[in-house]
Amino acid sequence: MRSEALLRFDREHLWHPYASMTQPITAWPVREAEGVHLILEDGRRLIDGMASWWSVIHGYRHPRLVAALQAQAARLSHVMFGGLTHEPAVALGRRLVGLTPEPLQHVFFADSGSVAVEVAIKMALQYRIARGETGRSRLLALRCGYHGDTFAAMSVCDPEGGMHHLFAGILPRQVFAPAPACRPGSGEAEPDLQAFRERIERHADELAAVILEPIVQGAGGMRFYCPEFLAGVRALCDEYGLLLIADEIATGFGRTGTLFACEQAGISPDILCVGKALTGGMLTLAATLCTREVAETIGRGEPGLFMHGPTFMANPLACRVACESIDLLLEQPWQARIRDIEQGLRSGLAPCREIDGVRDVRVLGAIGVVELDRPVDMSVVPARFVERGVWVRPFRNLVYVMPPYVIDEESLAVLCRAIREVVAEI
Ligand SMILES: *Cc1c(COP(=O)(O)O)cnc(C)c1O
Repeated sequence: MRSEALLRFDREHLWHPYASMTQPITAWPVREAEGVHLILEDGRRLIDGMASWWSVIHGYRHPRLVAALQAQAARLSHVMFGGLTHEPAVALGRRLVGLTPEPLQHVFFADSGSVAVEVAIKMALQYRIARGETGRSRLLALRCGYHGDTFAAMSVCDPEGGMHHLFAGILPRQVFAPAPACRPGSGEAEPDLQAFRERIERHADELAAVILEPIVQGAGGMRFYCPEFLAGVRALCDEYGLLLIADEIATGFGRTGTLFACEQAGISPDILCVGKALTGGMLTLAATLCTREVAETIGRGEPGLFMHGPTFMANPLACRVACESIDLLLEQPWQARIRDIEQGLRSGLAPCREIDGVRDVRVLGAIGVVELDRPVDMSVVPARFVERGVWVRPFRNLVYVMPPYVIDEESLAVLCRAIREVVAEI
């Protein structure tokens, strides 16, 4: 009864992500969550394959994160960051500066990933303005990329898969290079780099920066590419005086097997965005880091200030929980954990290759992807996963998982079996 009333109001009044209010799809009511399980209103337990979109790395309701949140709430939930500061922000800033490559020394705290991307783009543009290079205002991005849903972020998303057509004439027109075709391990980055260099040369005097997702292109297509390409892009940015913005909002905090995906190419970006797993999925928080050179150049220009300041900037609850989440991650043998999940996904998903309609199966770190040759019917497929006791939400032609790192071997096997069975049915 209770859940029926809840669902009725939800269906009639609440927007869901990328959803229609007139033709709403089924939403399952979650009562609570614990560890790797979502618990529905009717008591059913689902193994969560999505980690709530990359974020819940330690599982739900982790006692240390809950305790950190409660202790901070009892002391200081929020205070404006204009003219005031606090220990949770400083503690998190210290950790981020310490964990990221040495050149990244300055931290801007934002309230979501998209805003962190807006901030990164604004930093690059203010950097150009400060240098008197006002003509250099475009960004070079990759096809199949995803960087968020706000306007500047949308403008650097894949121009076909993204919302460019819908907002044609409104979005800034950026420059796009082909999505790299080199697979991790292949090392064959030269043709991709050639195409990338060609775009830079054609637009050198109007480009402010390059923006990309290092190694894993997430919501734009769940594609993996070789570190050699990323290293080559860094070298090209240096050669042509372009800033490199690395969007690690999905890849940060261990997901690909290294703490940050940039480490796989041994490079450091000029600007770095983190979000999603930053708080272990407890609260919304993101951050944009930049080099001393970027910060000092902005400081030398007009008006000498960086022109951004969200109301909930550096929220103490989110900062405190983020510190706890990072400590929790680093205190455990997380690399081994990710390797185990990678192994489990590899063996569990490999049989999908034999299924009709499967175009590709790929695994990197704690990410598993089954690419089909046709779009998944979202009106039936999520229900088939729920029937099997797992939560997997495909998009387009991609059935993919990135489970919480705490997932045990047996649950991972259940997750992979469900994917094999559902993929075989569709
Ligand atoms: C999710 C995501 C974003 C946007 O983050 P939100 O918190 O959803 O605004 C940006 N970039 C990448 C790579 C992402 O995966």
